[in-house]
Amino acid sequence: MPGVSTAASGVGAHVVVSWMDRLATDVRADAQRLTQLDAAIGDGDHGINMTRGLDAVVAALAAQEGDVPPGRVLIVAGKTMVSTVGGASGPLWGTFLRTTGRTLGDEPAPGGAALAAALAAGVKGVQELGAAAPGDKTMVDALLPAVEALREELAGGASLADAAARAATVAAEAARATIPLQARKGRASYLGERSVGHEDPGAASTVLVMGALARAVA
Ligand code: ADP
Ligand code: MG
Repeated sequence: MPGVSTAASGVGAHVVVSWMDRLATDVRADAQRLTQLDAAIGDGDHGINMTRGLDAVVAALAAQEGDVPPGRVLIVAGKTMVSTVGGASGPLWGTFLRTTGRTLGDEPAPGGAALAAALAAGVKGVQELGAAAPGDKTMVDALLPAVEALREELAGGASLADAAARAATVAAEAARATIPLQARKGRASYLGERSVGHEDPGAASTVLVMGALARAVA
């Protein structure tokens, strides 16, 4: 693959590019559902926002030249999300990707533990920007436990592939668990009690983010 490093072991740039490619495909396929979830408790643009952002990310990464480390790929992806998505999710996902990339630094092929630590820094970045705590019915509700599960599985000796698969399952369970919650952050919070009974759109897109990662590292 031109423009990306192909390290034999660890998470090379090609893994990150594959993650973003898979995510863009999954977001496109699920855009209508994401938008319907957002129509119920927001303004009905989440699928459109995510599709626009990820399509731009794929184009930006395809245009990248030279041997770029995975951290740099994530920084480009994050900046692209911020600059192409108008909704709250653009800056939030952009910060997640950019902070993860910055934390990875210029390491050409970081191991699973370094990736997990960088993703945890990314989650922290999201929380610093959006000030959402777990239980506020946002993407943080799915992202935080998923990345925690990834770290725990790796610390327990699991392979990156198995740990990422477990993290994706945790994200899916956590997204479903947002249904009975009342939103305390973002647009859905304006609805008060009427936000209860619907899955949070950003938590639903987190399931796609973690699922695509699991398949990219498998
Ligand atoms: P907008 O709300 O601007 O229309 P989107 O519809 O694309 O943007 O994204 C909505 C999602 O963004 C929500 O479902 C929620 O998961 C996430 N979100 C909104 N505000 C915050 C916040 N302050 N912290 C974390 N996530 C948030
Ligand atoms: Mg919206």
